[in-house]
Amino acid sequence: MATIKVLPPALRNKISAGEVVERPASVVKELIENSVDAGATDIRIEVSHGGKQMIRVSDNGRGMQKEDALLCFERHATSKLVDETGLFDIRTLGFRGEALPSIASVSRVKLVTGIKGSSAGVSLEIAGGEVKGIKDSSFAGTSITASDIFFNTPARKKFLKRDSTELFHIMDAFTKEAVARHEISFSLFTDGREAMVFPKASGPRERILQVFGPEFLDGLIEIGADEDHMRLTALISNGSNFRKSRSHQFVFVNTRPVRDQTVSSALYKAYEGILPGGSHPVFFLFLELDPGKVDFNVHPTKREVRFEEKERIYRFIYGRAREAVRGERSRYAAHFAQMPGMTVQATQDRLSSPSASAVTLVSENEPLPYRPVLPFIYLGETFVAVSGVGGLTVIDHHAAHERILYEKFLRRIDLGSYQLLFPAQIKLSHKESRLILENRDLLSDFGIEVDDFGHDVLTIRALPSALEGADLRSVLSDAAEAMLEGVRPGRSLKETIAARIACHSSVRGREILNQEELSRLLSDLEKTEHPDQCPHGRPTRLFFSLDDLKKMFKRK
Ligand code: ADP
Ligand code: MG
Repeated sequence: MATIKVLPPALRNKISAGEVVERPASVVKELIENSVDAGATDIRIEVSHGGKQMIRVSDNGRGMQKEDALLCFERHATSKLVDETGLFDIRTLGFRGEALPSIASVSRVKLVTGIKGSSAGVSLEIAGGEVKGIKDSSFAGTSITASDIFFNTPARKKFLKRDSTELFHIMDAFTKEAVARHEISFSLFTDGREAMVFPKASGPRERILQVFGPEFLDGLIEIGADEDHMRLTALISNGSNFRKSRSHQFVFVNTRPVRDQTVSSALYKAYEGILPGGSHPVFFLFLELDPGKVDFNVHPTKREVRFEEKERIYRFIYGRAREAVRGERSRYAAHFAQMPGMTVQATQDRLSSPSASAVTLVSENEPLPYRPVLPFIYLGETFVAVSGVGGLTVIDHHAAHERILYEKFLRRIDLGSYQLLFPAQIKLSHKESRLILENRDLLSDFGIEVDDFGHDVLTIRALPSALEGADLRSVLSDAAEAMLEGVRPGRSLKETIAARIACHSSVRGREILNQEELSRLLSDLEKTEHPDQCPHGRPTRLFFSLDDLKKMFKRK
């Protein structure tokens, strides 16, 4: 007897549901994408208990007639693909006909749909993939409710996280879709409360503003470029607005949110030389390609793509992004050159002038005693070479500053927290503001006092002196991300947040220190517990003794 069996449809659907529906957020993504494909201009999402109890997506799109409504839960039933050539000319988000049967096989689904102007709408109920009820209804558009996700697959249900975590995933999925389609109005209601509402926007910039607030845009530069059937629209970090995580990186290919190595490595490459270690740029990148030159049929969730002209795309993105970053940097450099301080060039000029007095001999026999006034040279904007006791120390002044502040934050010494005369108001994304408000006490330990102003706007009432003049939007955003990641092995939540905040306060000024400030930095660094490493584990200083130098010059 044959041992091979063809699996029954219900089981097949459950298997493919495993790929398409990983968690409630996947249901939100698939349903929104169906609404977009249906030409909706208004999409409303309601979820309860992190989407585990209920997810409802309602749209004003073209709707379905009764026969289609009955068919759409069949596997590989789609209105978006008719023949094989279509597979290489995908212009819709869906095409595999897998989402609805997958969702219906692992939850209880209710579909209400109808075509505008026709009274032949229908209301359907399905549980575990089987139709349980069908009624006529008049409705223009489509509303799909999925309840009790994984009620019949307990093994998968076990993998779901806390409601709040699942809700954050939903917010991320929602945000991606909303940023992808600025011309559609989107709203998200969580447990009956309005969470995010974005009216139709004029372009990506306005949608990003709706989601992340006006301060967020300050750190971004805009790119618009065309090249032979490719179009790039992007908002990317300027040369100093970096984050400690990849959480603000978005790539859309033909309006589909995707992850792609080619695109993101082209972007990172554009920041080569200016991106500090452990930092990440913010980017929103919208790439328009000829649909025939990109394959979306790589993975069931369609989040991965294959480009026919991968290298050309890489060069296009890298080239345009680098140009934009450079342009912005040279404006900054012009400003920087006018600032007081000693850059390498300035120091060289001084050395070559007849009255040069900055040359100090470090004698082998007579080590220089520590002096508050040390000869030093800035190498670029970050490194300072200081001649000192028995050799040469090269200091990364940002890393050193980070170490000092990190320890101050953790030990709560010398924070110099002060009340703001004019409290600052900052709009965050909904997710960020929730995280910050939930962990408000932690921040107040660091001298940061925030209040809820409503609509994801936070009022900042007090700050530690180290954060004076810092980009508060980024500080809070990075702190929120650290709160989301939670405790890491070997490091408490408090330590993680302190490291994030210290990093902001120290990079803020892009300033060159004067002699007195440098001496203070060095002596403060000396007082820390781990003076040789910044909180992220990078060195703060490297020392070359005369002996080391001799070895390097092969004199020993
Ligand atoms: P796909 O999107 O890949 O075609 P789905 O299983 O997601 O597959 O949906 C099956 C079909 O159901 C779609 O092709 C479409 O015709 C119809 N459909 C699904 N959602 C909607 C909606 N919100 N409005 C109108 N039609 C829809
Ligand atoms: Mg679909």
